[in-house]
Amino acid sequence: MRLSQMLFVTLREDPAEAEIPSHKLLLRAGYIRRIGSGIYAYLPLMWRVLKKVSQIVREEMDATGAQECLLPQLQPADLWRESGRWDTYTQAEGIMFSLTDRRDTELGLGPTHEEVITTIAKDMVRSYRQLPLHLYQIQTKFRDEIRPRFGLMRGREFIMKDGYSFHTSEESLKKTYQDMDRAYSNMLRRSGLEFRAVDADSGAIGGSGSQEFMVLAEAGEDEVLYTEDGQYAANVEKAVSIPADAEPSPFATFEKRETPGTDTIDKLGKFLKCSPTQVVKNVLYQAVYDSGITVLVLVSIRGDQDVNQVKLLNELTKLAPNYQAKTVLFLTVPDAEAQGKWAAKSLPLGYMAPDLADDYIAGSKEVNSKFLRLVDRTAVDLTNFVTGSNESGYHVVGANWNKEFPLPATVVGVRTAKKGDRAVHNPEQTLQSARGIEVGHIFQLGTKYSQAMGATYTSEQGEEMPLIMGCYGVGVSRLAQSAVEQSYDKDGIIWPVAIAPYHAIISIPNISDAQQVEVAEKLYAELNQSGIETLLDDRDERAGVKFKDADLIGIPYRIVPGRSLKSGKVEIVERATHKSHEILIEEVNATLKEWIDAAIK
Ligand code: ATP
Ligand code: MG
Repeated sequence: MRLSQMLFVTLREDPAEAEIPSHKLLLRAGYIRRIGSGIYAYLPLMWRVLKKVSQIVREEMDATGAQECLLPQLQPADLWRESGRWDTYTQAEGIMFSLTDRRDTELGLGPTHEEVITTIAKDMVRSYRQLPLHLYQIQTKFRDEIRPRFGLMRGREFIMKDGYSFHTSEESLKKTYQDMDRAYSNMLRRSGLEFRAVDADSGAIGGSGSQEFMVLAEAGEDEVLYTEDGQYAANVEKAVSIPADAEPSPFATFEKRETPGTDTIDKLGKFLKCSPTQVVKNVLYQAVYDSGITVLVLVSIRGDQDVNQVKLLNELTKLAPNYQAKTVLFLTVPDAEAQGKWAAKSLPLGYMAPDLADDYIAGSKEVNSKFLRLVDRTAVDLTNFVTGSNESGYHVVGANWNKEFPLPATVVGVRTAKKGDRAVHNPEQTLQSARGIEVGHIFQLGTKYSQAMGATYTSEQGEEMPLIMGCYGVGVSRLAQSAVEQSYDKDGIIWPVAIAPYHAIISIPNISDAQQVEVAEKLYAELNQSGIETLLDDRDERAGVKFKDADLIGIPYRIVPGRSLKSGKVEIVERATHKSHEILIEEVNATLKEWIDAAIK
């Protein structure tokens, strides 16, 4: 491609709309254009990158025996009603774009394809002989994200590879899951990314496991906890650890103390000169179940610990049958407005005790009249602890479970693991923390969808059995931008060679110099012919401008037919290192081929 004929517009300034380096650079270098919130056009350079990433993904998937297909993006609401996800996806989470067609039929734009694929399997898979089966597609997904941001990282329209596998046994599912683990690692390695596979939350469905593939970068929205010995890595949503030991309590007798202005653990610890590990803190949540019932949840946890909302959500989902429900629609810390809807009187916020009386709740058909009381394991063994008194400005000290306060019947593990905690597999190892961008997620689903949608097969013994499923997603467009987030410098993008839009760019320093133009044209034709994807910067611009642009768009090798032409050579500059080489014109092709092959491996 000749730059003189290309839609090539670069910006000198960082666009105001972008916050993180990769987003700024992709906009400045003319790879993407924002069309609306979370909606981007992939311009020709970007499209080439996306095609390369897709091709790597495709090759790795095909190598495992998975088959590519293409499923509809328009999905009938009825399918989602069968799986039970229509209301959650269109209303509660609101992640799915939905519409009504001219016949008054409701449809959704696919955010994911479990429903569609399960319906296909239900129709087409009859016998165990057809299994295992693994189908995948590479396609645009739609999600009405609450906070679209960072360009392609969190779009409302983005490209994903999603695959779904069907099995007769857990062992068969595990085998495919392991194949996917390997395929995903290969995809990321081949795309030139530094990443870590981590244990991930598999939500309330449990399943037997799920892993996320995290690209390590400061701008990552996820926190990863890991140990130096390489034995443990998990998303903070899932991570477990051994908390610090509690210090023995200095309070031997139970009494109520005036503790003015101590509505935080920090202030309380300073005031009472005690450690937060001697405090039982009581945190209030509000859960709305899909049966329409709101439940107020009081979680008692050790003062130095924090509740992890994902773990709490999973616990609350397990308790759904108690509230005639299947799932939790919302989980929040109720603000003043929310409290106004159910509080019978004003709450002693910051001073609540584990036995906060149920008469704070004005119960109704929609609001459960009793607190759901949960205690985290970290609080169970505390003795002579400090906690609230249910009266503003006062705490109690020297309290004990089942003496002054009944121990809540439901003991849960909902604390957030944190950096510095001891690791469970080896307490000598402490957890380290890093930021990660989730680019892939592999998941053992089990029979959640097949059971809900009646997708069965006939087993060897002639029984009707639900299909056992796995699903595997990788964000193609997010992956491409992650590569930039991991690889840039002050001059611009540094693409890993394997996914760069072009391998090389020939920048003609002076287009009125006939010899320069002649050599450039010759190399341009030759290189492209031999499979080295090459751009030709034949614009009537100063050499400095061309070099700056070449650096900004991040093409791995810049070829300059300049002064060295006298000795039959051109200059080749490596983008990543700015290292310059003088290479004989007739050796350019072979040299580049060697470098590119070595870089792509
Ligand atoms: P996140 O937690 O970041 O919202 P998710 O867990 O909802 O992602 P999955 O349903 O697991 O995402 O989708 C598979 C992959 O699709 C993700 O690992 C990610 O790479 C990509 N992805 C998900 N949402 C987006 C988005 N809004 N924009 C770009 N890529 C996305
Ligand atoms: Mg995910």
